[in-house]
Amino acid sequence: MAALDFSGWTADAIRAGLAGKDFTATEVAQAALDRVQQVDPQINAFLQTTPEAALAAARAVDDAISGGTFDQLGPLAGVPVAFKDNMNMLGTRTTCASRMLENYESAFTATCVQNILNAGGLPLGKLNMDEFAFGSSTETSAFCTTKNPWDVERVPGGSSGGSAAAVAAGLATVTLGSDTGGSIRQPASFCGVVGVKPTYGLVSRYGVVAFGSSLDQVGPFALTVRDAALAMNALVGRDPLDCTSQECSTDFTANLEEGVEGMRIGVVPEFMEMQGLEPEMRAAVEQAVQKLAEQGAEIVEVELPNAAAAMSAYYVIGPCEAFSNLSRFDSVRYGYCDPGHADLGSQYEASRAKGFGPEARRRIMLGSYLLSAGVFETYYYQAQKVRTLITDDYRMAFGDCDCILMPASPRTAFKFGEISDPTTMYLSDIFTISINIAGNGGMSMPLGLGADSGLPVSAQLVCPWFKDQNMFRVAAALERVYGEAPVAPAFAQGKAGE
Ligand code: GLN
Repeated sequence: MAALDFSGWTADAIRAGLAGKDFTATEVAQAALDRVQQVDPQINAFLQTTPEAALAAARAVDDAISGGTFDQLGPLAGVPVAFKDNMNMLGTRTTCASRMLENYESAFTATCVQNILNAGGLPLGKLNMDEFAFGSSTETSAFCTTKNPWDVERVPGGSSGGSAAAVAAGLATVTLGSDTGGSIRQPASFCGVVGVKPTYGLVSRYGVVAFGSSLDQVGPFALTVRDAALAMNALVGRDPLDCTSQECSTDFTANLEEGVEGMRIGVVPEFMEMQGLEPEMRAAVEQAVQKLAEQGAEIVEVELPNAAAAMSAYYVIGPCEAFSNLSRFDSVRYGYCDPGHADLGSQYEASRAKGFGPEARRRIMLGSYLLSAGVFETYYYQAQKVRTLITDDYRMAFGDCDCILMPASPRTAFKFGEISDPTTMYLSDIFTISINIAGNGGMSMPLGLGADSGLPVSAQLVCPWFKDQNMFRVAAALERVYGEAPVAPAFAQGKAGE
């Protein structure tokens, strides 16, 4: 008999199979772990695996089934899941893909991770990322480069590159990433999967290593809109341990079937003319707009006049917050400690110089400069004013529409080493950053393959604050047109040298 293979299976399909006793959760966990072991060396999405935790979670699901309490199991019962390595989970290291935290053992479990486990997820392990989430290609990881399952010579995007690649290669059904300026949506676009950055405040960040605390948000990756919605149902809600988190009782699966008839969808003509937007990406977004119009959506043009300044504001606010957050890695309480220093000053200096990679050091130095006396009025205050203007732009735009459709990424996945200049790399997030600045929800939706490159293309959906169900509704309508996102062909069942 062929080995069991659950790659590409949705949460609902797994649930139905468990309910029908076609297989057990333990079989799902074992098959998923075997597949990671066999297939992951081709893409390096995982930094560590957690077979014991996966099998223990599976046993709990199987016990519930044999105990007759199947219907009490959460929405992700028996579903293989994995987490970006900036999320603490007891029994794992949380490295942030940095030498600084190479040996850091999680002291507790992040609320987002716990919520996914409580929903019945089977944790397969921790996923590669750009160091401390600084980057757009996962190339700044101190440990390995993750490959894009659609073309292993290309990057998976970043910083949540491992999270996107694991789903695209059929290694996990749901993964979590974090998004400060685009780190869920851009890799989702590069890897052809659904990636959601919820409205700021929907998901607790407790236990997630902080980058930019006023921008960071955790969200799911999945092949299907419904799986992402099920993960959202598990993730959201007030957590007393994160004062920014809000009460939420939305069921994100509730209106997936409603269609877009009567919805007002905003488009931003100026964005479509943006320099650097690849023609095939532009064509894909324009076609999506047309498909939605054909289904009865009303298309309205909206303006975001200050969005062009978002990049500048982000590269002030982001580094300032990162500088403050990363000061805790001082080699005493946390982080790599360079041995043999007689005085604390030289220990700090050597440990931080050796523990952090070049991009992390660049951000820290930039933040330190921008917050220094005599300078911060010019940059930090100015950036905060720009932030208010951009936030108001979105508020105004959402007076006229229920959801905005725009590109997620200006281009398809690039090759390793193709972008070496930091400023060009920063432009990867040109369409995503303003949404973190304003705090709205954003979602990258796969739209098949580009006509020129043959690589995944996408569109981004953006919603008013705490109306994330709007973008799920539009995404589901697009999924009905374009079909559910597949596992990358080279990794489809029976391929990838299994
Ligand atoms: N690529 C952006 C940066 O380098 C965004 C990263 C993120 O969202 N974590 O800052």
